[in-house]
Amino acid sequence: MKLILLGAPGAGKGTVAKLLTKIDGSVQISTGDILRAAVAAGTELGKQAEAAMKAGDLVSDELIMGIMRERLKEDDCKNGYLLDGFPRTIPQAEALKELLADMGEKLDTVVDIQVPRETILDRLTTRRTCTGCGEIYNVKSNPPKVEGVCDKCGGSVVQRDDETEEAISNRLDVYNEQTAPLAGFYKNEGMLLEVDATSSDAVIDAIKNKIGM
Ligand code: ADP
Ligand code: ZN
Repeated sequence: MKLILLGAPGAGKGTVAKLLTKIDGSVQISTGDILRAAVAAGTELGKQAEAAMKAGDLVSDELIMGIMRERLKEDDCKNGYLLDGFPRTIPQAEALKELLADMGEKLDTVVDIQVPRETILDRLTTRRTCTGCGEIYNVKSNPPKVEGVCDKCGGSVVQRDDETEEAISNRLDVYNEQTAPLAGFYKNEGMLLEVDATSSDAVIDAIKNKIGM
């Protein structure tokens, strides 16, 4: 399947994407994970993205489109992909539309995962992320078996730099201003599936139902 997952930070896009990859071998493509890996590795891309990320601001559309143009051509995309955290602005959505048309590809649907703001704040402040594989934990509801150590890869599980209260609040504002309008964009394209993120399973069922799996 080829999907875009929309939803505020903490809506559960990453969790849903990981569950979906198990259904049909689609690959999860998270621009946030790609950027964090670049920052950790100290590459040129990482250096360009670091300050914006730390503040909870978006990195430039040019930088993101440069990454995605290459990423979507890789072999593992043949079985489908779940776009997690991309597109994030109207210009990115327009550039993606053009890119997919050039590649002769069509998305199955665009899923908007909707969660109340209080739930999001609570989730993000308790969220922890593996620096090795990107696996997501929660100190309250889903801690790793050994504190600070990833069950999957043994990597270290930490609170992200942009998950301080200040950066979170900025990320939610940025989301409302720059990303929320994408729901209208994809509604116009006749591609929007709106789901309540009450549980990841409910989200998965709604997606399967919509794309006939
Ligand atoms: P979130 O939990 O906010 O969804 P992500 O892991 O998707 O976080 O992204 C982390 C940060 O990486 C963002 O706050 C932003 O700085 C940057 N980023 C990720 N994807 C994009 C994108 N498509 N466009 C611009 N910036 C992005
Ligand atoms: Zn891990």
